[in-house]
Amino acid sequence: MAIHEHNYWLTTAEMPQTEPARPLPESVDVAVIGAGFTGLSAARTLAKRGASVAVLEAHTVGWGASSRNGGMVLTGLKLGVNKLISMYGRERTQRMYAASLASIDCVEQIVHEEKIDCDFARCGHLEVACKQKHFDDYARQVETISREFSHQLQVVPRNELRNEIGSTIYYGGMVDEISAGLNPAKYVAGLARAAINAGTLVFENAAVQNLARASRQGVPGWRVQTSRGAVWARNVLVGTSGYTGTATPALRKKIIPIGSYIITTEILSDDLASELSPRNRMIYDSKNYLYYYRLTPDRRMLFGGRAAFFPETASTIRRSAEILRQGMMEVYPQLRDVKVEYVWGGTLDFAFDIMPHAGEMEGMYYALGYAGHGVAMATWQGQQMAEMIADGNHDNPFVGIPFPGAPLGLYNGRPWFLPVAGAWYKLLDWVS
Ligand SMILES: Cc1cc2nc3c(=O)[nH]c(=O)nc-3n(C[C@H](O)[C@H](O)[C@H](O)COP(=O)(O)OP(=O)(O)OC[C@H]3O[C@@H](n4cnc5c(N)ncnc54)[C@H](O)[C@@H]3O)c2cc1C
Repeated sequence: MAIHEHNYWLTTAEMPQTEPARPLPESVDVAVIGAGFTGLSAARTLAKRGASVAVLEAHTVGWGASSRNGGMVLTGLKLGVNKLISMYGRERTQRMYAASLASIDCVEQIVHEEKIDCDFARCGHLEVACKQKHFDDYARQVETISREFSHQLQVVPRNELRNEIGSTIYYGGMVDEISAGLNPAKYVAGLARAAINAGTLVFENAAVQNLARASRQGVPGWRVQTSRGAVWARNVLVGTSGYTGTATPALRKKIIPIGSYIITTEILSDDLASELSPRNRMIYDSKNYLYYYRLTPDRRMLFGGRAAFFPETASTIRRSAEILRQGMMEVYPQLRDVKVEYVWGGTLDFAFDIMPHAGEMEGMYYALGYAGHGVAMATWQGQQMAEMIADGNHDNPFVGIPFPGAPLGLYNGRPWFLPVAGAWYKLLDWVS
C-alpha cells in the first residue's frame, strides 16, 4: 500500500461545522486570529466571561500545528532548567516551571469540563539519552527541579531502561509521570465545540489580510480586514504560531517557522506495542535534532522529527517519510517489516531565544513561540491572555520578558538561514 501523505489524526476526528455563508458581525469585543489551541482556548474563556468573540481562521478549525502534532502534553519548557535560571533568575524561572505544570492541569480540566473525547491520559513522558554525558546531566536536572520547583522526576539507568522502552540504543532515561498524551485533532475539535457552545463565532476560510487602528463611536479598536469581509474589534489576539504571516509583520519578524514531520505505522499487535513502549510513555531523545515518538491510542507507532528543516511542502513530506523510517528503525529494529501508512508535516514556531512569548505589542495581544512544546502551553496561554484582555490582570511569567529579534535585524520573516541552522544543529549533536 502506498503511504498516505495525510495527517493520520484527522482520520479519527470530526471537526465542528461552521457556517460558510455567515457574514462577519459588524463589531466584536475580541477578534482572535487563528483557530488552534491558543485562539480557541482564549475564545472559550472570553466567551464564558460574556465577551463577544470572533475567531478568524485562514483555513479550517485546527488546520495548523494543533491537529498535526504528536499529542504529547509535556511539562517543562524547550530550554533546560539551568539555562532558564541563568537567563531569568530563580524566581521567574520558578513561576515559568509552575506554569508548565499548571498547563497540564489546564488541559485536563478543559477535557473534563467539556467532556472532550480525545484519549487524554496521564501516561508520563520519557526522555532518553543519546550519549553518556546527556545521561549524566539528567541527575543534575532532576536535583535542580526537585530543589527549585519541588517537582519530582526519576532517573532511569541504562540497565533498567527495558521497563520503559524496547530499544537498546540509549544510555538511560528520565521520566516525568505528570505529562500526558492525547489525540490532538480530537482535542482541537472539542476545544472548538466548547468555544462555539460558549457563544464564540468561528469563521473558517477567513484569512486576516490587514489590521488597522480604528475608533468606533469614540472607542479605540481595530478594523480587521479578512478574505470574508471586515469586522471592527475592540481587541485583537494573535494566535498564529508557526503560520504567522504578513498581517502581523512585527510578530512575523520574531518567529522562525521550522518544519517538523511525523510518520505512523500500521496498527501493531498488542505484544509488539507493549514491547516497544511498555508504559505507553510520550518519548523523545536528548539531541537538538531530536526524534519524538509514542504509540497512538489504536497502537500505531507515531514517530516524528525535524527530518527537513523547511516548513512542509509535498517534496519535504515525501523525503521525510524515508528519513523518519530510517530513524525509527535505528531505535526499533523490530519495526523493519512494519508498514508506514501515513506521513505529514507541520510548522513549529521558534523565537530567537527559544522561549514562549505573550503580551501586548503595538496594541495587539499575542501568544506564541512554543518551540514544539505547545499542546499544553498554548492552551494555558490562551486562557491567560483571555484573562489579561478581559480585566487586565495576569500572572503570566512569559509576559514582559525580552522578545529578541534576529541579530542585526537580518530577518523579515523569510527563513533564508534554515539550511545553515539545520547543519549547525547536526554539528552540535555530533560534538555535544
Ligand atoms: C509536527 C508537529 C509536532 C508537534 N508535536 C508536539 C507535541 O507532541 N507536543 C507539544 O507540546 N507540541 C507539539 N507541537 C507544537 C504544537 O502543536 C503547537 O505549539 C501548538 O499547536 C500551537 O498552537 P497554536 O494555536 O498557537 O497554533 P496553530 O495550531 O499552528 O494555529 C495557528 C492558526 O493560525 C492560522 N492563521 C495564520 N495566519 C492567519 C491569518 N492571517 N488569518 C487567519 N488565520 C491565520 C493558521 O491557519 C493556523 O490554523 C508540534 C508541532 C508540529 C508542527
